[in-house]
Amino acid sequence: MAKLYFRHGTMSSGKTLNLLAVAHNYEQKGERVVVIRPRLDDRFGAESVVSRTGIQRIADVLVDVDSIIDRKILQGVACILVDEAQFLSCDVVDQLRQITWDLDIPVICYGLRTDFQTRSFSGSGRLLEVADTLEEVKTVCHFCNRKAVFNLRISALGAEVDGPQIELGADDRYRPVCGPCYHSHTNRQNQDLFGD
Ligand SMILES: [Zn+2]
Repeated sequence: MAKLYFRHGTMSSGKTLNLLAVAHNYEQKGERVVVIRPRLDDRFGAESVVSRTGIQRIADVLVDVDSIIDRKILQGVACILVDEAQFLSCDVVDQLRQITWDLDIPVICYGLRTDFQTRSFSGSGRLLEVADTLEEVKTVCHFCNRKAVFNLRISALGAEVDGPQIELGADDRYRPVCGPCYHSHTNRQNQDLFGD
C-alpha cells in the first residue's frame, strides 16, 4: 500500500531541491510524476516550484483550500510530489491521504513544520496527524552549529514576534535557527519593544 510522507524542514533546508531531484529520478526511469503546490497568489511565476539553487519546474496542479483533486490526471502516475505543503488545507491533505489508499500512488509532501511563531500551519498540522512517515530535511542553525528546528523572521528592528503567519515574497527575511538561538533572539526583541 502506497504511503503518505511528510518531509518537513526549516526555511533554506533544501526541501524543494529534494523534491526536484525525486521528480528527476522518476523521469529518468521513464515514469511520470505530478507536482502539486498550493495557489498562494496570482503573481507571475507563482505556479513555479523553485529551489534556491535556481533549479525550477512548473507545478502540474495548483490547489486552493477548497480544491477537489481531479483523479483523472493521476492515471498512470508513479508518484505525487507536493511543494509548500504547509499551506494546504486540512481537506486537501485528507484527499491526498485517501489517494494513497484508493489509487496506490505514494504522495510525498514537503513543507515547513512550523511558522515564525513556532505554530503549525493548516497543512503541516494535518500532515503531522495523518502521514505514515515523517522525515526531517535537516540544516544547521544560522547562528551556531546546532540543528535548525525553527524559522526566525527578521526585520530591520530584529526578530519578529507578531504579524501575519504568511508574508508572500519575504523568504529572505527568514533564518533557520536552533531552539536556543530562537529563544534568545525573540526574547531580545521583546526586551527592545517593552523596555524591560
Ligand atoms: Zn543556534
